Amino acid sequence: MSSSISERIITLGSSLPDSVRLIAVSKQVSAEIIRCAYAAGIRDFGESRIQEAASKQAVLQDLSDITWHFIGHLQNNKAKKAIEQFQWIHSVDNLKLAQRLNQLAQELKISPQICLQVKIRPDPNKSGWSPSQLLADLAALDQCENLQIQGLMTIPPLGLNDSEALNVFNSTSKLAKEIQEQNWSNVQMHHLSMGMSGDYKLAVQAGATMVRLGTILFGERPV
Ligand SMILES: *Cc1c(COP(=O)(O)O)cnc(C)c1O
Repeated sequence: MSSSISERIITLGSSLPDSVRLIAVSKQVSAEIIRCAYAAGIRDFGESRIQEAASKQAVLQDLSDITWHFIGHLQNNKAKKAIEQFQWIHSVDNLKLAQRLNQLAQELKISPQICLQVKIRPDPNKSGWSPSQLLADLAALDQCENLQIQGLMTIPPLGLNDSEALNVFNSTSKLAKEIQEQNWSNVQMHHLSMGMSGDYKLAVQAGATMVRLGTILFGERPV
């Protein structure tokens, strides 16, 4: 088991361009398996539930150079825990949440790295800014000075074919460029968090700098 994980990590790592950071999505994966992935060189782990992550983080404290990425839907009442436990929040999906995180970050004297989650196509199953709403909120986001706003995150709707998914990734990339060109002082667009096991190659083609991979590393999750 552990050797097959390390093989998958090595194969995958060598297939990704150097500019792309591999986030191992370890939701529903045990702390022991996370240790195996760590031993194979992974330092970035993604989790989508605060509580589940907390119990694993507690037993993995000795692995002090792990960077934890929160990638799930974040409710306002979990915002504090999220920035205490995670260095990155990829799934900041509305202005209110960003402002709340900014306030908490100030109180905690930390400056978490965040991505703004966008929804390029309407999708009732996903949260996130529409491109037009995001553009309208940039001035307010720029005021969130305790957040290190690093870029955009997106998840294409289920059931797209490859060219449609590529389209979503390219549109996200284009939106990030457009925002970067507006030269905000606090809103930076250095990163594009996009691509999961089924579509990461397309995302990389469109300029992803962080891919979030679970199944392809750890196998299918129980449903
Ligand atoms: C679960 C999850 C992933 C990983 O998905 P896989 O298809 O298993 O690679 C990536 N991003 C988000 C936001 C997720 O919830």
